[in-house]
Amino acid sequence: MDSKVRVRFAPSPTGGLHLGGVRTVLFNYLFAKHHKGEFILRIEDTDQTRFVAGAEDYIQNTLAWCGLVPDESPLHGGAYGPYRQSERKPIYAKYAQQLIEQGNAYYAFDTPADLEQKRKEILNFQYSKAHRMEMKNSISLTEQEVTTLLENNTPYVIRIKVPDAEEVKFEDLIRGEVSFETSQVDDKVLLKADGMPTYHLAVVVDDHLMRITHAFRGEEWLPSAPVHILLWKYLFGLDQMPKWAHLPLILKPDGNGKLSKRDGERLGFPVFAMDWTDPATKETTIGFKERGFLPEAFVNLLAVLGWNDGTDKEIFTLQELIEGFSIDRVHKGGAKFDYEKAKWFNTEWIKQLNNQELAKLVRPILEKEGIEIHEDDYLVKVIGLVKERCHLLPDFITQSNFFFTPPIQIDTASILPKWDDKKKVFFTELAKNYAAKITDGHLTAAASDLETEFKNLAATQDLKPGDLMLPFRIMLVGGKFGPGVFDIVSCIEFKDAMQRINHCLSLLA
Ligand code: GLU
Repeated sequence: MDSKVRVRFAPSPTGGLHLGGVRTVLFNYLFAKHHKGEFILRIEDTDQTRFVAGAEDYIQNTLAWCGLVPDESPLHGGAYGPYRQSERKPIYAKYAQQLIEQGNAYYAFDTPADLEQKRKEILNFQYSKAHRMEMKNSISLTEQEVTTLLENNTPYVIRIKVPDAEEVKFEDLIRGEVSFETSQVDDKVLLKADGMPTYHLAVVVDDHLMRITHAFRGEEWLPSAPVHILLWKYLFGLDQMPKWAHLPLILKPDGNGKLSKRDGERLGFPVFAMDWTDPATKETTIGFKERGFLPEAFVNLLAVLGWNDGTDKEIFTLQELIEGFSIDRVHKGGAKFDYEKAKWFNTEWIKQLNNQELAKLVRPILEKEGIEIHEDDYLVKVIGLVKERCHLLPDFITQSNFFFTPPIQIDTASILPKWDDKKKVFFTELAKNYAAKITDGHLTAAASDLETEFKNLAATQDLKPGDLMLPFRIMLVGGKFGPGVFDIVSCIEFKDAMQRINHCLSLLA
């Protein structure tokens, strides 16, 4: 690639970030980094009516959480700023003016009421060649009328003059050639009455000024492409246009249409990257982060939603994704979202992440539950023992709670059917052995030694160790779950193990 690759993610800050949006970020990012290029975050906030407080911070925080940090952004700055379109307002008018002078755009003075009236009269009304002359604009009015309206400061918008019956086409990096017939395209507003550009003008001007070479965006933007192509042609030349790829949708689990926030609510899984609280309704939508996903897993699962490296490999680090990514391996069709599979990725990543790193994430979750953690090393050890059983970070609560505090609920009902005096004698003896070790100054022993002693004691009493495991586990954990019992004893130490055995014996008496 001759010129430096520069890509952008250009969200409108209107709410929480859907996982499809994060996948768009990811594919842009991976492509840029694969080509040693730059990734830019540009906030497209020209539609003041859709301004939502907090939405921009949310986007920046989401990118930071995912580790997809922009090289240039409102936060990081850069040579092509400002990166917030609302701060670039003075830039756009001159391009709109240029289009007017070239005859590619025109003033339209229609009031909202005029437009409303027209929509009532004509079904599926489009402001385009078909009706342009019936409206109040610098094509239908005389030059003199236009001058007077402008001199009187009559509010106007500037609209693109879409040419009649022309074919506009471009080469989509995923779909191949895509072409449009201009009679299907309406004369979109480029500059609004308040002087703000619309998305269409701003996106083209900014992609040009920010030297964007490639733009990957959601499939829903495909219908806007003909307007953008025309603007590129009129303003900067088609050879300057970035290469585009329109990314396929992420579909509902049953493949029936685009996955929406509502599907997540209905089916009980997150669709947003992080928790989002709508400032107007105060309603919170759960995010992958707060549900307990690791960013590594989230990024990994998004990468393979619609892309693969040509092998069966599914687990990728960000670095591996950067190395292996190529846009021609992005699928053309939509990718079905499967929450169970998403959890599988998280399970795998919990196993992969080192215990120290996990401890940093798990500690606040446990502390929030009132679990007191005195030593970091102890937490790290516990994490090593239970991580295989955790799919989401909050699973560490149930899976490790009993390492920090004796279980409150003890499932004695599961012990009682096979409980007898022989077992009672065995556990009484075991507790005594542990007490003796404490007296001898031992705190704990290796799991393997504990197991040998346990088996030996069982043998002397003519008991099968297999019959003793379930009661022992319930005494230590409270229920039928958790890692190996001897690992637990080794970790919680003799004193604690002895107390738990004795406590349960009293309950069973
Ligand atoms: N502002 C658009 C959005 O909200 C950007 C589309 C594009 O990337 O061109 O997604």
